Amino acid sequence: MVRDEASFGQLLDATRRFVRDKAIPREAEVEQSDEIPADLVETMRRGGFFGWSIPESYGGAGLTTEELVFAAIELSQCAVAFRARVGTNTGIGSEGIVVDGTEEQKQRYLPRLARGEWTSCLAITEPEAGSEASNVRTIARRDGDSFILDGEKRYITNAPIADVFTITARTEPGSKGAKGVSAFIVERGTPGLSTGKPYRKMGQAGSPVGSVFLDGCRVSAASIIGGVEGAGFRTVMKALNKQRIHLAALSTGPAIRMLELAVEHAKTRAQFGQPIANHQLVQALIADCRTEIFAARSMIVETARMRDRGEDIMQEASMCKYFATEMCGRVADRCVQIFGGAGFVADYGSIERWYRDVRLFRLYEGTSQIHQLNIARLTLNEAR
Ligand SMILES: Cc1cc2nc3c(=O)[nH]c(=O)nc-3n(C[C@H](O)[C@H](O)[C@H](O)COP(=O)(O)OP(=O)(O)OC[C@H]3O[C@@H](n4cnc5c(N)ncnc54)[C@H](O)[C@@H]3O)c2cc1C
Repeated sequence: MVRDEASFGQLLDATRRFVRDKAIPREAEVEQSDEIPADLVETMRRGGFFGWSIPESYGGAGLTTEELVFAAIELSQCAVAFRARVGTNTGIGSEGIVVDGTEEQKQRYLPRLARGEWTSCLAITEPEAGSEASNVRTIARRDGDSFILDGEKRYITNAPIADVFTITARTEPGSKGAKGVSAFIVERGTPGLSTGKPYRKMGQAGSPVGSVFLDGCRVSAASIIGGVEGAGFRTVMKALNKQRIHLAALSTGPAIRMLELAVEHAKTRAQFGQPIANHQLVQALIADCRTEIFAARSMIVETARMRDRGEDIMQEASMCKYFATEMCGRVADRCVQIFGGAGFVADYGSIERWYRDVRLFRLYEGTSQIHQLNIARLTLNEAR
């Protein structure tokens, strides 16, 4: 569902222009400096990129899921760090507040997140809670009208630069699994909350990821999302269901860009007296990339439309995340192959960087194996 085609068309055009004219020319700088230049963050702020998925009534663009995936496919055609900079505000860092926040929470956070004035993050993962995300060890102990948080969150995108943290913590002592877990909104500067240095990573230079430490961090009971104790996991899963479609789209843009680079290379690199694009085995690599990109894009758009119609998309979202992220990995590998030695040597182009950058997609927001289990479980349940 695209509500106002003219204004949405302008948003897509502006995104394409940003990617082509501003971001791509500075990808190497981002790789070297390990940060998005401040002037480009400002350009994204002014362009409203941080508020894409936040409702218009709170200062965002209020994009439908379908619009969001089209925009995400465009923005993700430049180095991954650009969209990761805005991605927590347009995704996991704001969605919990959008779907379940109280009016007061929405008023306080969403306009600032939409303007990109504050950066958000979602902190679920812990040393003992990875794929088993509900194995939450962070404790929130009630003390009058407050809770005191103790624990450690690990691998949190944008934690080193975030102003607002959504943090899952166990409020019901002795509970197990998803039950008894609440989602808290905690602001930077709250005594007892600190973040570690950005990790050294395989890829995605310019996208800071780090740990969050909670040491006697006192927050008001009113900072629980929606004010409802024990409902934190439900809130997080609602946010993640949408995010899985979003991430699938964010894995499709890089595949489109990598194929574009590989096609350009195949047409200009000559071996055996002709462009390598004339060799049929190279053509097979190109055809497989193009076909899989088309398949991913089709399923993502279809699932986004289903979500906008209010249908249950839990299984479809999992299939999109699983297929699109694995597809992106296959495309990266084929494109390195098309580049030959220049695909491995960073001095000869950016495919080597893309290959490293996209590896993460198959690991976070549910590994491929976790999605396979989810898809199979839902299929088997249907058959019963
Ligand atoms: C750069 C980066 C950014 C991240 N950003 C965030 C963030 O912003 N917020 C956040 O909360 N988290 C974030 N994460 C965490 C991410 O979601 C987890 O790393 C991921 O869920 C996997 O957990 P794990 O690393 O503990 O791996 P593990 O759970 O230890 O898994 C290791 C392997 O075992 C497999 N495995 C585990 N259980 C099963 C099973 N039952 N059946 C079959 N195979 C299984 C997995 O598929 C995987 O191959 C990020 C991670 C990284 C690396």
